[in-house]
Amino acid sequence: MTEPAPRRLDGIARELLAPFLDGTAVPAGWQLVSWDCEQAISVSFQRDDVCIAIECEMRNEALDCYTRTARFNVCVDRLFEDSDLNDVDRRMVEAVLDVIRRREVSLPDPERPAGGGPEVREIFVDRVLIPEGKGHYYINPYVGCMIACPFCYVIDRADFSRRLEGLSQLPWGKSLDVKINAAEVLRREVQNVSGGIVRMSPILTDPYQPAEKRYRITRQCLEVLVETELAPVILTRAPRILQDLDLLRRFPRALVGFSIPTDSDKYRKIFEPRADAIEDRLTALRALHSAGVSTFAVIQPVLPMNVDRMVENVAPFVRAVRLDRLYVGERVHHLYDDNGLQEYRTGEWAAETIGQLTAAFEARGVAVEPLDNFEPLLNA
Ligand code: SF4
Repeated sequence: MTEPAPRRLDGIARELLAPFLDGTAVPAGWQLVSWDCEQAISVSFQRDDVCIAIECEMRNEALDCYTRTARFNVCVDRLFEDSDLNDVDRRMVEAVLDVIRRREVSLPDPERPAGGGPEVREIFVDRVLIPEGKGHYYINPYVGCMIACPFCYVIDRADFSRRLEGLSQLPWGKSLDVKINAAEVLRREVQNVSGGIVRMSPILTDPYQPAEKRYRITRQCLEVLVETELAPVILTRAPRILQDLDLLRRFPRALVGFSIPTDSDKYRKIFEPRADAIEDRLTALRALHSAGVSTFAVIQPVLPMNVDRMVENVAPFVRAVRLDRLYVGERVHHLYDDNGLQEYRTGEWAAETIGQLTAAFEARGVAVEPLDNFEPLLNA
């Protein structure tokens, strides 16, 4: 059987990052951990216990970043910890940027065809399980998201990937890549992995979005993972996950989170009109909890809500919550304005609400944490 050809985007990223992938330009003392191209072109390196990701997204003078090259805004992140880069880290990053600056001039900048209607593309990939370092991995069963939350943080990054491939610019939620051979590739990849944590998914898609009903890519990947020592950590907005409850219960270690940024379906209809109803998410969360699956909730971005009712509905059914404010507010300012909700769009309101939620969840014995370290929750 012949191998399917990798999609064009992977080839473009491989070309940019070639001196790291072939080992000729990996900075001394550091090891290449991984690379990716689905939400910016990224490459990561590890030295001892330190993992650093360098992400190249579309150049945009209006956005803060570590630095800019001719084509990119470059973001740099020390993974798994909340600390600044030291001198050793910075020297590594600058060495990597020297290579990227030399090679970015050869990147394609194709004309984009005029837009079109909804586009679901079945694609073949040759990588699915992406390492992050320290035994952490992630899987994106899909690229793009038909749930189309207007505040989604990945909108510009996902469009940048389409732009590099010369694909048309479509409104967020109108395009989806389905990794049709994901499970087959994953089955091969897990042969070389002894254990660890696999996130599904890192803000690029919802693994249980509408297309999962037809394609079952997420389920197929879970069917591979359940035969391994890898523990899945899933985040979704979709009660559709209950169709895999039988499978999730077979994992000795699994963690499922629900994104529930408001307790009110009135506000859900304004800010997440294509997502499932809040009550349906709460029902699914309760069902997972009752079935013995470890659960958490992500209340991010905090949207208008009744704090007491939110805590009452969520606290009994989760081990931890993550709380955070809205970061790309300007994208949805009109939703606040058009619906008379201006008082809820300030940083002060968000800080006060997060403070109230924190106190109330902690009083109920629920951990409030960044959820960057899943081990304690998996082992609880
Ligand atoms: S469900 Fe998640 S990935 Fe999908 S649009 Fe909403 S925030 Fe983005």
